[in-house]
Amino acid sequence: MTKECCWCNFTDEEKQNILFESAYWYVFLADNQDYIGRCVIVLKRHSESLSDLDLSEWIELKELINRLEKCFEKILGADLCNWSCLMNDFYKSATPNPHLHLHVRPRYSKAITINGSSYIDTEFGHHYQPKKETLLTNDNRKILLNMMKTFLNQEQK
Ligand SMILES: [Zn+2]
Repeated sequence: MTKECCWCNFTDEEKQNILFESAYWYVFLADNQDYIGRCVIVLKRHSESLSDLDLSEWIELKELINRLEKCFEKILGADLCNWSCLMNDFYKSATPNPHLHLHVRPRYSKAITINGSSYIDTEFGHHYQPKKETLLTNDNRKILLNMMKTFLNQEQK
């Protein structure tokens, strides 16, 4: 089953978007930066749903949530985070083979500045827009990636 799953076999190019890696999870910076800092948290082993997680994976997920929320708050000034576990796209296939992952979208009451460009969360206080275009240029996405990578890989206090 795992050999047919591209989430079990990330390419080297995809791995360049990894911000943080723990024993059981990867944190990727999402391609679409429609909400600044948006990430995808992917379980390293193939598993289909949250109910299948074992306790050590849950505990590590909780630690990751702490680490990410702190990162969004400290370096980007996020007010809150929208967490979701959806998996819907896998079920567009006639033979769904879902691989467990979560999405996180930081949300902002104030404008964020990256490399001199200002970004506003125009839906703050409301549900995120599912079909919104990326806000970041490639250059600014790289700057954000490096900022977040540095923060997330620091020793946590
Ligand atoms: Zn998989």
